[in-house]
Amino acid sequence: MIASRRAELSALASDRFDLLVIGGGITGAGIARDAAMRGMAVALVEQDDLASGTSSRSSRLIHGGLRYLEQGHLQLVFEAARERRILLETASHLVWPLEFLFPIHQGDRVPLWKLAAGLWLYDVLALFRSGRRHRLLGKRRTLEAEPMLRERGLVGAALYADAQCDDARLVIATARGAIQYGAQVATWTAVRGLVVEEGRVCGAEVEDLLGGGRAVIRAGVVINAAGPWSDTIRRMEDPAARPLLRTTRGVHVVVPRDRIGHRHAITFLSPIDGRVMFILPWGELSYIGTTDTETTEAPDAVAVTDADVRYLLRSANARFPGAHLAPEDIVSSWAGLRPLVRDDAGAASDNSREHVVVDGRTRLITVTGGKLTTYRSMAAEAVDHAIRAMPPKRRGGWPRESGTAREPVPGSEARDLAAFRTRGLSVGLPADTVEHLLRHYGSESAGIINLGMANRALFERLDPRHPAIAAEVIHAARRELAQRVEDVLVRRVHLYYELPDHGLAAAPRVATLLGGELGWDAERAAMEAARYTTFVGGG
Ligand SMILES: Cc1cc2nc3c(=O)[nH]c(=O)nc-3n(C[C@H](O)[C@H](O)[C@H](O)COP(=O)(O)OP(=O)(O)OC[C@H]3O[C@@H](n4cnc5c(N)ncnc54)[C@H](O)[C@@H]3O)c2cc1C
Repeated sequence: MIASRRAELSALASDRFDLLVIGGGITGAGIARDAAMRGMAVALVEQDDLASGTSSRSSRLIHGGLRYLEQGHLQLVFEAARERRILLETASHLVWPLEFLFPIHQGDRVPLWKLAAGLWLYDVLALFRSGRRHRLLGKRRTLEAEPMLRERGLVGAALYADAQCDDARLVIATARGAIQYGAQVATWTAVRGLVVEEGRVCGAEVEDLLGGGRAVIRAGVVINAAGPWSDTIRRMEDPAARPLLRTTRGVHVVVPRDRIGHRHAITFLSPIDGRVMFILPWGELSYIGTTDTETTEAPDAVAVTDADVRYLLRSANARFPGAHLAPEDIVSSWAGLRPLVRDDAGAASDNSREHVVVDGRTRLITVTGGKLTTYRSMAAEAVDHAIRAMPPKRRGGWPRESGTAREPVPGSEARDLAAFRTRGLSVGLPADTVEHLLRHYGSESAGIINLGMANRALFERLDPRHPAIAAEVIHAARRELAQRVEDVLVRRVHLYYELPDHGLAAAPRVATLLGGELGWDAERAAMEAARYTTFVGGG
């Protein structure tokens, strides 16, 4: 198993890289992995934790996108369906098939016949390879399938196949896949300025936000994959750069699943404004999303508002009237900014409206827009573009293709996890912990079990109400670049989202375990635990 430690500033400063990637969301991680697999020397810097931006605040769907179908963007749906197929194979423990039920009520913006026609096209564009083809249900069979749905006005429903993922862990696995091929990844390292020589960007000045200090990282090509921060990085190159993005805020709320009582993943049209919404299962919880509110708020400041919560709960209650969801029922919530490409950015782009790959004045390459689902193909396109932009003397004869469509991300090497399940149960771990480990780590769960075998205290739960165990914290530090308590509790083991108090009581234990790996003294560990309390308060 690869050891993945955070790259040190000194190592970054002393090398000269082929490619420097700014941003450790899914776009940056995907680009770093693609380039490293082609043999490039790659550095990636992320100002916070991996996936701390939009990439851990999505609807967690790997989907063709019914919305794009409505808009007539068939090429995008085709591409997304292909990528869904690839990710179900190459990230099999982090992306799983899910059956959706889409009910239609009288007065809905889309009648059932139109939905049926759309889903037929959805199946065609997926080349009939998305699992089961869609089916239509009449009112009676819809209620048999989802007894808690509002009966009044119900016309019927469609069942169709799509996929769900663990967004944050997909980013982490992808970044580790890059490290496996030699990429240097430095989290908590922010770009403060760009280095330009002879009219060409050739590096960046970065600041280490944990250890302190600044350094210059040099590279043949620099790619800006900073998601909703992309325009800020572009302005470092050219203060007059035209904005590429407009951002919208998307919010999700998590509630106990039994309050809604749904059996499938639900797609529905909000009775408030007709937008497509989801109620998605997540173990014993469900999350409801999402909103889509145009905003100019800074990406670091994006937060859930009362109006967002009212909209989501009212929409869900209207379709599941027995739920009576109220703000007190919310276990957790998250808000993210969609980095949407402005309509007038198309002229500068060499691609579709959905994402852009754009050269700046000094050849800073910005890659933004897109979605989680299509990150792999977007990354391949960005690396092709970077190779074309490479100064002639650095062009290294890299292959035209990286192999990311075939090679599994770390943890997904084995499709059949039965042997890992048997091992987990045989060492005495409870079934819920074993399933949690398989879903989070796939075949790498073996390494976590080995940690516990060497020190059985590491088999203890971090919180009695949650299946995560202490060994995961050690794994997170040694192999997943975790540097802070919130890196572990929010994006790696998810106590933040899955417990009503966000796993606050586990913070001191996590800090002690993490500190043991990262060389903290007791005072630093206490400070990091307290930082999590502040984070939860403000989060
Ligand atoms: C509400 C919502 C729901 C969504 N649902 C889905 C879905 O279900 N399926 C799907 O396919 N897509 C979905 N998306 C879209 C998808 O989440 C985004 O397209 C994707 O996550 C963008 O990733 P990114 O890497 O480009 O940006 P980010 O994840 O934001 O990454 C950019 C990174 O750059 C870093 N950075 C910024 N400035 C600097 C700097 N100066 N130095 C170093 N690092 C820096 C940031 O810290 C950040 O981590 C959704 C988006 C939203 C908002």
